Amino acid sequence: MKKNMLFGSTLSHSLSPEIHEYIYNIIGYDSTYELAEFKENELQKYIEKLSKFDINANVTIPYKEKVLPYLDFLDETAQIIGSVNTIKSENGRLFGYNTDYYGLSETLKHYNISGKAFLILGYGGAAKAVIQYLIDNNAEKVFVATRKKELHRKLIDNEQTKLCENIQAKSYESTQIKSYIDKQIKSYENAQIKSCGISEKIEFISYSDIANISGFGIINTTPIGMHPNIRSCPVSPCVFKNFKFALDLIYMPMRTSFLISAENAGLTGINGLKMLVYQAIKAIEIWTGIEMSISQKSDIFTHFDSKFSVISKIKGDLDLTKNPIFIIGLPGSGKTTLGKSLSKKLDFDFIDLDDYIESKTNMRISEIFLLGESKFRKIEKVSLREVSTAESTVISTGGGVVVTPENRELLSKKPNVIYIDRSCEDILSDVNLQNRPLLKDNPNRIYKIYKERKGYYSSLCDYKIINDGSINDLVENTLKALVSKEEN
Ligand code: NAP
Repeated sequence: MKKNMLFGSTLSHSLSPEIHEYIYNIIGYDSTYELAEFKENELQKYIEKLSKFDINANVTIPYKEKVLPYLDFLDETAQIIGSVNTIKSENGRLFGYNTDYYGLSETLKHYNISGKAFLILGYGGAAKAVIQYLIDNNAEKVFVATRKKELHRKLIDNEQTKLCENIQAKSYESTQIKSYIDKQIKSYENAQIKSCGISEKIEFISYSDIANISGFGIINTTPIGMHPNIRSCPVSPCVFKNFKFALDLIYMPMRTSFLISAENAGLTGINGLKMLVYQAIKAIEIWTGIEMSISQKSDIFTHFDSKFSVISKIKGDLDLTKNPIFIIGLPGSGKTTLGKSLSKKLDFDFIDLDDYIESKTNMRISEIFLLGESKFRKIEKVSLREVSTAESTVISTGGGVVVTPENRELLSKKPNVIYIDRSCEDILSDVNLQNRPLLKDNPNRIYKIYKERKGYYSSLCDYKIINDGSINDLVENTLKALVSKEEN
């Protein structure tokens, strides 16, 4: 089985594993996709692993430029842009590609760029691919708003020359096969020809100059507005009236504050999801040599567009992010399982109230119960208050949280309370009740508990979800319910 990896410094929120695994299944590619999150001083070690074990890699922030000196070959696009997001490992040699450019070209291919002016916000790795695409498609002028205007102005004139010199030197050192060297030189010459004249078309400006700029498109390449900072926008809303089209490279949330302001000002707005999906498709094509059809690619994109739009709507909804999502229901109804899956999908924190109590008191729940149920309820009441203001968090509560009046008052004021309704028969047949203090000696007590509490669960919840299928159904139904309330 082939192994592929994603290199980066912060990867826990990455959507790439899900996208890759989905595509591998479709094309029948027997491979794994592992996250390799590491600090810069480990980069060389990880690169050596690639060539030693023939492992391919994607590369993300902050290593897209830092990997360059370690590669034996760069394709033309990667050379011109000066950054690599895809490494193919073959017979001990490492080949670098930039498929962000392809992802971007799929995103923008229906727009006529020629003769038009653009404003790009930020000048990091992704901005360079955007600039190159605009120049390749004959944009007339590209303004780049950056916090380091003077620094970039000086750097751009010699940046690409220096890069290409490094690559050439490296290729002579490490590659013995002449055809590789010839290819490398040819591609280097092409890169030089293509990058000729770029600097005249690019103008670096400060954010304070933006109000004086107008053009066809405004493109956000900064991370401002990305989840969880969904209220932030890199520019003031009054800037948009000077443009017709807005692209935000951010894909989570899919409608950022930047895009919402742009659309309110009448612009066409698009997000970065298409770029993300198509860069992954291209990387897989490079690794496998399998070319996917246009309709296959478009189906893959449509799949993720609808899937992530549900999650994105939730993450873009302030009610749902600024308040915790509480899960209530009988013991064994699936609260913890749902809470874990939901928080993973939404990239929220997860708190299991019983675990919280155990770590706070340094005692097992069963030990606290030995001191009396009322003692436990007191601790539970204080603990619920402590966690009740957490943002972007899913909290699964204990089944009896609703018996305390103060807890009911608190939950009744919260906007996101989910009740999982599961039949007592299913709980009895499916759940080990040995570690449930109130049920372990008499499981049939669940019927009495249900009778006592079902009124509370129903009256306190904003969403009631029936759990009578698989955990996947439970998660999907919950996500749909959260979105449908937002749409009402
Ligand atoms: P990067 O290399 O870190 O560059 C981001 C740039 O944004 C920085 O160089 C900086 O430009 C500017 N910036 C960062 N923080 C800022 C702040 N607080 N205020 C103002 N400007 C700030 O990252 P990248 O790889 O280019 O990625 C940038 C964004 O594009 C991320 O959100 C990433 O997720 C997204 N992206 C999306 C895709 C996709 O497939 N959709 C692909 C690549 C990247 P200055 O220093 O010049 O001001």
